[in-house]
Amino acid sequence: MENFTLNNNVTMPALGLGVFQMTGEQVRAAVPVALDAGYRLLDTASRYYNEEDLGAAIAESSVAREDLFITTKLWFKDHGYEATRTAFRVSLDKLGLDYLDLWLVHQPFNDYYGSWRAMEELVDAGLVRAIGVSNFYPDRYYDLVCHNRVVPAVNQLRLNPYDQRRDTREISARYGTVLQAWSPLGQGGAVLKDPVLVSIAREHGKSVPQVILRWLVQTGVSVVVKSVHEDRLRENIDIFDFALTHAQIDAINALDRRETGNGGPDHRDPAMLDLLRTFE
Ligand code: NDP
Repeated sequence: MENFTLNNNVTMPALGLGVFQMTGEQVRAAVPVALDAGYRLLDTASRYYNEEDLGAAIAESSVAREDLFITTKLWFKDHGYEATRTAFRVSLDKLGLDYLDLWLVHQPFNDYYGSWRAMEELVDAGLVRAIGVSNFYPDRYYDLVCHNRVVPAVNQLRLNPYDQRRDTREISARYGTVLQAWSPLGQGGAVLKDPVLVSIAREHGKSVPQVILRWLVQTGVSVVVKSVHEDRLRENIDIFDFALTHAQIDAINALDRRETGNGGPDHRDPAMLDLLRTFE
């Protein structure tokens, strides 16, 4: 497993398991397989409603706590200084942990400035090793950077060959924030059948998911990927024994569709907030 060094010198595995849309039962089944396959970064969120199951799987594992990297996320209905302090305790208790490795502001809505101040204090108190954001576009990211003490260590956002987020990559690099891709495989959609990716995969004797995950890590993007199947869990982490050529990276870079308006969901669209507000 390769690692990224965050802007506060914390080491984070390059690739992790995401447990979005997993039932509690699936989390308890997938995590032991993932740990056996070599995953050490496990990514959940309060909004995934499976922090307790992840905590149970961690408690049952023989992997030492300090060798794990546990991420969870703050839901925007818990934003604000006091609400964030309460939400932190709730997540920590559900996970059965006494500290978090990474805590992310899940969505760029509501009073995330108040939340950020509470999160900075939790870092100072040694209860969270690193804090970051998720789904922050360059404008909101830059404003947060300019008006706070701690620069986000990570910005987790949708990033795959069809949705490459070049503008966010550029500004994040300037301030030392590591980008982390969610839905790297486009949730198993059309990108997995892309002819350019199919051809590159053949050249390496690898699968398309492996080529995508390799492209992300090789271009400096951390990744969280989800599967409930043992063969795919093992396949998705088996990306550290080959390297893409410059020409192959250029060919994948040319697949971006965001700049043509076909990249994917947009957190700047008010309809996105309307949708998320309907969630509990
Ligand atoms: P992914 O791109 O990881 O795709 C997951 C889907 O692809 C599942 O349907 C899975 O099916 C399938 N899949 C996994 N591996 C393979 C493979 N090797 N070959 C073919 N199909 C495969 O999407 P996610 O949206 O789940 O994103 C990953 C993680 O990112 C989440 O679990 C979560 O932790 C995080 N995330 C964060 C968000 C945020 O707002 N911060 C939003 C969304 C996700 P199966 O399980 O049946 O194998």
